[in-house]
Amino acid sequence: SQIVEGDELRKKLHNTILELKGNIRVFCRVRPLLRFDGVSNGPEGASISFPTSVESTGRGIDLINQGQKLSFSYDKVFDPDASQEDVFVEISQLVQSALDGYKVCIFAYGQTGSGKTYTMMGKPGIDQKGIIPRSLEQIFKTSRFLESQGWNYSMQASMLEIYNETIRDLLAPGRSNGFEMTSSKQYTIKHDPHGNTTVSELTIIDVFGIADVTNLLEKASQSRSVGKTQMNEQSSRSHFVFTLKISGSNENTGQHVQGVLNLIDLAGSERLAKSGSTGDRLKETQSINKSLSALSDVIFAIAKGDDHVPFRNSKLTYLLQPCLGGDSKALMFVNISPEASSVGETICSLRFASRVNACEIGIPRRQT
Ligand code: ADP
Repeated sequence: SQIVEGDELRKKLHNTILELKGNIRVFCRVRPLLRFDGVSNGPEGASISFPTSVESTGRGIDLINQGQKLSFSYDKVFDPDASQEDVFVEISQLVQSALDGYKVCIFAYGQTGSGKTYTMMGKPGIDQKGIIPRSLEQIFKTSRFLESQGWNYSMQASMLEIYNETIRDLLAPGRSNGFEMTSSKQYTIKHDPHGNTTVSELTIIDVFGIADVTNLLEKASQSRSVGKTQMNEQSSRSHFVFTLKISGSNENTGQHVQGVLNLIDLAGSERLAKSGSTGDRLKETQSINKSLSALSDVIFAIAKGDDHVPFRNSKLTYLLQPCLGGDSKALMFVNISPEASSVGETICSLRFASRVNACEIGIPRRQT
């Protein structure tokens, strides 16, 4: 495969990507080395570096693999020192646009352990809060402010998981004890001509402030972690989708807006061979591969301006269809780990993000 190297080439590649991406932006976040990453990492962990030339600062990432340098560029690169606040500052405008009536999707993509959940949800503690709680805080705060200008907002939250192409309601009554897993409910996705999506039988909760959402997030994460111990760490094998629907109307101007914010923690992107799968695991992995490659096909088709966008190839892309096309806005975080032992997956993730879809069959496609 061709290796893109040097600043000239990087610039060219970067421009191509920007041209292709349209409304979809890609941010890369490198997590710090963690204590449990093991001693074998030592200096090898430092195979990732960040170029310092003017046009690459904050956008480029270099990776040394078997003596070869691979260079990638994104709309933004966050190095391991970037705080949750540093990350949020860069996306707060995007979050805000959901209040202006846009449909917004923010994804976290990467192998298990690369920091997706840390980025989206974060950890307890003010500084450690991730994108989901910060976004909601901002939305409620701004909506309060806009109320003084005649706006009136109502908001509804839902949380679901897609596991093996099956939807699960994380807020279903009784779900937190884990038994709802075998639910016979049919969660059917429907889109109306106005771009509104409904999932039949899915629990939808009116939320009035951050406390409401915090409760729901706790409930959902309980549901997920129960699933984790009962069912083989399924949470990293499923896509998590948080949706906030926002309707606003202004009594002074008669304006009406309907925005949607989708925050998505994708299933781990690690490839088949590594997980050594058989049986159920094989099915899981195939279904993850299918839906992640469906997502990349959709994003790439949109980015290229194709007439046909294959939304129907997976539950996830079908669910998000109205929030990915048209004048919606999407952002993909590519989370990567700095561990030397993860370099193969890291390259796949970086390629997924820059050229989309490189890894579905485990053989990198040619980079252009
Ligand atoms: P994933 O969701 O991709 O499986 P996690 O978000 O669970 O990965 O991250 C794996 C571990 O690394 C967790 O212990 C998490 O707290 C930690 N971690 C990830 N990113 C960061 C970061 N930027 N700073 C500090 N710790 C991080």
